[in-house]
Amino acid sequence: MNIADQITAADGTEKFLIGLADGKKVESVLIKHKRTVCACVSSQVGCAMKCSFCATGLMGFSRNLTSEEIIGQFELMGGIKRITNVVFMGMGEPLHNYENVVAAVNELRTKGLSWQKITVSTVGIPDKIRQLGKDTQCQLAFSLHAPNDELRNKLVPLNNRYPLVEILAACKAFPLSRKGPLMIEYVLLAGVNDSFEHAKEMAQLLRQIPFVLINLIPCNPVAGLSFQRPSPETALAFKNVLIAAGYKTIIRTTKGQDSDAACGMLSIKKQEINV
Ligand code: SF4
Repeated sequence: MNIADQITAADGTEKFLIGLADGKKVESVLIKHKRTVCACVSSQVGCAMKCSFCATGLMGFSRNLTSEEIIGQFELMGGIKRITNVVFMGMGEPLHNYENVVAAVNELRTKGLSWQKITVSTVGIPDKIRQLGKDTQCQLAFSLHAPNDELRNKLVPLNNRYPLVEILAACKAFPLSRKGPLMIEYVLLAGVNDSFEHAKEMAQLLRQIPFVLINLIPCNPVAGLSFQRPSPETALAFKNVLIAAGYKTIIRTTKGQDSDAACGMLSIKKQEINV
């Protein structure tokens, strides 16, 4: 494995194109905050989930990464900066590559990361969420993106197979705590899922989960997709509904947008992938 390319955004976020032994490539990102350096790693080459707003979803699925290839991203980036946190939010659906992701999570533990510093994100595979809660003590992030099945079926096609009632029951069974809440990821798409009513519906939907931290992510426009970012006022109004309902909610500062290193922007130009 090697770093085939590297771009640094104006805010210091670094995006890496990682070359694999078979010539395929994935992306990994280093995100620096005040006191932490978070590595966002990929778990697959491409992704089979085809979420309608996601750059990686446009690529289609090529193959799973091995646990060594996942750890390899951590080590290559760790050679540049000391990494304090790892999130499995890069290319791919981590729970669609369950065995390799869990092996990588366990390997990260031997490299000095506590369970609280490792987060696995999913669009929602109920039996694998339950299994992850038994096999590890890592943090869980659920990419919700819509507060009802009708809309979510359109944005996240996997929802047609696993509706929200099943996914949230699995999340509820996951060992959550005040220090390790369920992280809800919600991409705000202008005019699609960002209304006052959507926020109220989301607040109601999440009542059943005991510990929740909501991350709102204003959409990063992707070439070839028509989704737009809502205005800051709309995002703030959405957040305020959730806060008024009692949820700890943050609007995630978009880091690395000028280098395509922000959420939903992880894709490699098709000609660069040896699929
Ligand atoms: S949002 Fe995640 S699960 Fe959905 S297509 Fe993109 S990489 Fe795959």
